[in-house]
Amino acid sequence: MTRPDTSVTVVEVTTVVASTTVVFSDIDGTLIDAAYSYAQSQPAVAALLARGIPLVLCSSKTRAEQQTLRAALGIPDPFIVENGSAIFIPAGYFPFPLPSSRRVDGWQVLELGVGAASIRAALARLRRQTGLEIQGYAGLSAAQVAQATGLDLPAAARAQQREYSETIVTPLSAADLARLQRELAAQGLSIVSGGKFYTVTGAASDKGVAVARLTALFRQQWGEAITIGLGDSANDAPLLAAVDRPYLVQKPGGVWQEMPDVPARRVPARRVPSVGPLGWRQAVMAELGL
Ligand SMILES: [Mg+2]
Repeated sequence: MTRPDTSVTVVEVTTVVASTTVVFSDIDGTLIDAAYSYAQSQPAVAALLARGIPLVLCSSKTRAEQQTLRAALGIPDPFIVENGSAIFIPAGYFPFPLPSSRRVDGWQVLELGVGAASIRAALARLRRQTGLEIQGYAGLSAAQVAQATGLDLPAAARAQQREYSETIVTPLSAADLARLQRELAAQGLSIVSGGKFYTVTGAASDKGVAVARLTALFRQQWGEAITIGLGDSANDAPLLAAVDRPYLVQKPGGVWQEMPDVPARRVPARRVPSVGPLGWRQAVMAELGL
């Protein structure tokens, strides 16, 4: 069920308590623009870093993609990959053990999703059973992914390094999408639209669940935590529903995405009257009282 979004436009300025604030952010169309640039949001990223406020990236992007962006921006904090499939936490980031975590390279990983190999196998079965044309990243060369996305070759290769999901690039009719949803659900998988393409993940992969799980760790460390969330698309609805202070930035063209209703939503998202990373900067600067 959808209902009209009763969001309000950001006008007021509230200064937050830096030591107990966490920012959760979508990447594409939110932190970075359609040309994959973070030039407009970077000043606000720098302001968060200078105050030691954690910035947790939360997107459909892979670990390889997010590591590149984190390194470029100098972000040291945990991040949530592949639509809530896993939380990557730098080893020792929290001063207590993380019981259900898996150690991978220098990370403590909390996994909600299922492995990409079993997702690819399920999609291969579906292709045979249904005859549906379902083209995923795994069947494309890096050059083909680059062409479809506008990414350069190294970035396209990072986008293909999926550990918990598969990206479907085939445009789907409403009927085909509904059929895929049914067939995938029967196998414990789900498919969501990320704007340009579709992402297939384990049914338990959820941006909102991942945000809540990480928020609980910050609360365990600090005793309390104020959470800010920023997104631009329907697949950010669970993220925005899981935070105290949700912000919806505009899509190119200056429009806000109509957001699906999320039962767990606590407060309506505030609509930021600017597109993508410019709106991101305005919302974060307002939160910081800058
Ligand atoms: Mg987005």
